[in-house]
Amino acid sequence: MLIILVGLPSVGKSTFSKKLSKELYFNGIDNIVLGTDIIRECFPVWDSKYEKYIVDTTYQLIDNALKEFYVIVDDTNYYNSKRRDLINIANKNNKNYVIIYLTAPINVLVERNRDRGEKVPKDLIIDMSNKFDEPGKKYSWDKPDIVINTEEDIDFSRIINTIMEKDKKGKKSKKSDNRPIKEKSKDITYKRENPTSTNKILLDRIDKITREIIGEYIKEGIIPKDKNNIKVFLELRKKYLKSLNLKDIYMDKNFKEGEYLNKIEKEFISFLNNKLKNLEDNYGKK
Ligand code: ADP
Ligand code: MG
Repeated sequence: MLIILVGLPSVGKSTFSKKLSKELYFNGIDNIVLGTDIIRECFPVWDSKYEKYIVDTTYQLIDNALKEFYVIVDDTNYYNSKRRDLINIANKNNKNYVIIYLTAPINVLVERNRDRGEKVPKDLIIDMSNKFDEPGKKYSWDKPDIVINTEEDIDFSRIINTIMEKDKKGKKSKKSDNRPIKEKSKDITYKRENPTSTNKILLDRIDKITREIIGEYIKEGIIPKDKNNIKVFLELRKKYLKSLNLKDIYMDKNFKEGEYLNKIEKEFISFLNNKLKNLEDNYGKK
C-alpha cells in the first residue's frame, strides 16, 4: 500500500507522517516513511543540480520498500505529475494507493513557517498556494481519499480504517488496469515542472514583474510605441532574465524572496533606463 501525502510546506505532513506511521505499526502494519528530504539532506548544500538524483533515488527507495511495507510518502507532491509518478510506482508493484490531502488556511501555513524560522520564503508559500494543483481537480485518479484539516483534531482510527478498506477493496477486484497513467500532452503543470521547480516558481515571478514593467513603460510612452522598438525591448528583457543566476540563491540561508524580488525590480528598471539612455544618445548623434 502506498500512502501519498499532498500538502503545502508547513501544513504538517512530517508531523502527521510520524504519527500515522506509529498508529499503523500499533495496528500490526509494518511501514516506512520516505520522502525526498531524506536524500536531499544528505547533501552539504541545496543545489538544483542534485534534484534529479534526489527524486530518482527517492523513487527507487519507494519502489523497493513497497515490495515489503506500507510506504508513506512525506512530500508536498505539489504537482499532479508527481502524484502520477507515485501512482505508477504503486501500479507497477501491483499495490494499492491512497491520497491523503492535508490542508490549513494560508495564514496558518505562513505562521507555522515563520515559527520554525521561515525555512521556506513566505512569498513562495503564498505563490505555491495560488498555483497549487489541488488533488482531484483535474483528474479522477488524483482524487484524495482523505482530506485532513490540520487545524482540527485528527481522527487516526478513521484514517486507518479508510486505508485498510481501500487496500482490501483493491485486492478483491485485483486491479486489472496497472498500465501507467500517461502524461497528457496538454498537462501544462507537468511542463512547468522540472528538477528546479522552486527556482522555476521564482523565475515565473521575475518573468511577471519584468513583463509588467515593460508594459508600464510602453503604456506611459517611455518606450516609444513602435513595433520594432517594442521588439527590441522584449528581447532585452529575455537577455536580462538569462543573465540572472538563480541557481545559488536557495543555498543562501538568509534568502528572502520578497527582498530579492524588490532588488530585481529596481535592477531591471535601471537596466531599462540605461538602455533607453543609450538609445537617446545614439539618436542624438545621428
Ligand atoms: P511539513 O512537513 O508539511 O512542512 P511539519 O510537520 O514539519 O510540516 O510542521 C510544520 C510546523 O507546524 C511544525 O513546527 C509543527 O510543529 C507544526 N504543526 C504540524 N502539525 C500541526 C498541527 N496539526 N497543528 C499545529 N501545528 C502543527
Ligand atoms: Mg516536512
